[in-house]
Amino acid sequence: MSKVLVIGCGGVASVAIAKICQCSEVFSEMCIASRTIAKCNEMKAKWQPTTSVKISTAKVDATSKDQLVALINSFKPDVVLHLGLPYHDLVIMDACVECKVNYVDTASYEPEDIDEPVWRAKYEKRVKEKGFVAYFDYSDQWERNDAFKNIGKMALLGGGFDPGVTNVFIAYAKKHYFDTIDYVDILDCNGGDHGYPFATNFNPEINLREVSAPGDYYENGKWVGVPAMSVKRVYNFPEVGEKDMYLLHHEEIESLTTNFPEIKRMRFFMTFGQSYLTHMKCLENVGMLSTIPIDFEGHKIVPIQFLKALLPDPSTLGPRTVGKTNIGCIFTGVKDGKKRTLYIYNVCDHQECYKEVGSQAISYTTGVPAMISAAMVATGTWKGNGVFNLENFDPDPFMDMLNKYGLPWNVQENPVLVD
Ligand code: NDP
Repeated sequence: MSKVLVIGCGGVASVAIAKICQCSEVFSEMCIASRTIAKCNEMKAKWQPTTSVKISTAKVDATSKDQLVALINSFKPDVVLHLGLPYHDLVIMDACVECKVNYVDTASYEPEDIDEPVWRAKYEKRVKEKGFVAYFDYSDQWERNDAFKNIGKMALLGGGFDPGVTNVFIAYAKKHYFDTIDYVDILDCNGGDHGYPFATNFNPEINLREVSAPGDYYENGKWVGVPAMSVKRVYNFPEVGEKDMYLLHHEEIESLTTNFPEIKRMRFFMTFGQSYLTHMKCLENVGMLSTIPIDFEGHKIVPIQFLKALLPDPSTLGPRTVGKTNIGCIFTGVKDGKKRTLYIYNVCDHQECYKEVGSQAISYTTGVPAMISAAMVATGTWKGNGVFNLENFDPDPFMDMLNKYGLPWNVQENPVLVD
């Protein structure tokens, strides 16, 4: 039986916490920690009556390694499940190394301040050498491989849906359906409607930074850059229907093309409605997406953080969001000398999620695999010393848990391909 320390109690964490409570065959104790202990206590009050998992709460500021180390040493978890912000990945990993404990997260590191000189120099070097311009990448986290090896523990990176389940889908396709995979398109479709003119489905700051950045894809060993939202396709998604989707950079392309060098081309598309794009462009044009602090009447404010305070909190979208998500991967490759195409995807209904755990499907599709990732590590089903991504392990036990814990998947032969 395992102890898990959950850092964060926002939209994604609230689902992972509910799912940890359902998974008492793996977890015996959970501590929920963030800066606002009242929110953690609310979560405890909501779920403790439903579960035998013993829940405690703590206040922690994840920018402080000392606070993290003190909390980890007092709770003594088997695994730390980081569901706060990607800005804190490195400090939490370092605290885990110091305390000799396993680590899981759902988003690759990006700095809060992209003008910090040491990070900026490293970034410029990466842009020159590797060619992709996104502010988030795995290099700083992969660099901690030896540190985790030396303590005999594991860090598992990107354990949400995308990255996360999409990585497992690829490992599963390779294990059961292909000798070689040549082309992969990852399609992330949210067919849900929350009724607001503009809101993001997960943390607005992280979300808007991601989608307003230039896009790219990987082809024949190189990254190919494209201006933000400049590559559009229309796809008819099973159980959702026809949607516009746009090419974005996404972090799993980096790990998957490293771990499956046979892949000739990998792209990532996400659906957006016209209203979302128009609002985003307008906010960008007036400077509201900027991460650089400005002086306003004697106060320093960061425009995107101010915007976050104005927008609906993603964790409150649950009751009003209707429709479905469809996230999956389309593969083209070869099996037994013959060309094969395959689509593996999950469909998730916003209102079904809300009925079950009180959250919309974006938090649900991330929180469920986050719990499963922590369970893979805590039970030793996935074993290793060092820093890993999800495609490094046997996909079958993870795929079984997806079916069991609310994200059943479908396999479709000969899907319509994206041109
Ligand atoms: P929220 O903004 O809802 O929650 C963030 C949480 O982090 C809050 O509970 C906040 O609590 C906590 N937090 C922020 N700063 C600190 C700090 N300094 N110390 C301790 N806790 C802190 O975000 P979401 O739940 O929407 O997203 C969580 C993560 O999931 C993000 O990293 C996001 O990128 C990732 N994600 C991954 C996806 C995937 O498929 N892989 C998809 C969607 C999201 P408090 O303010 O009390 O400190």
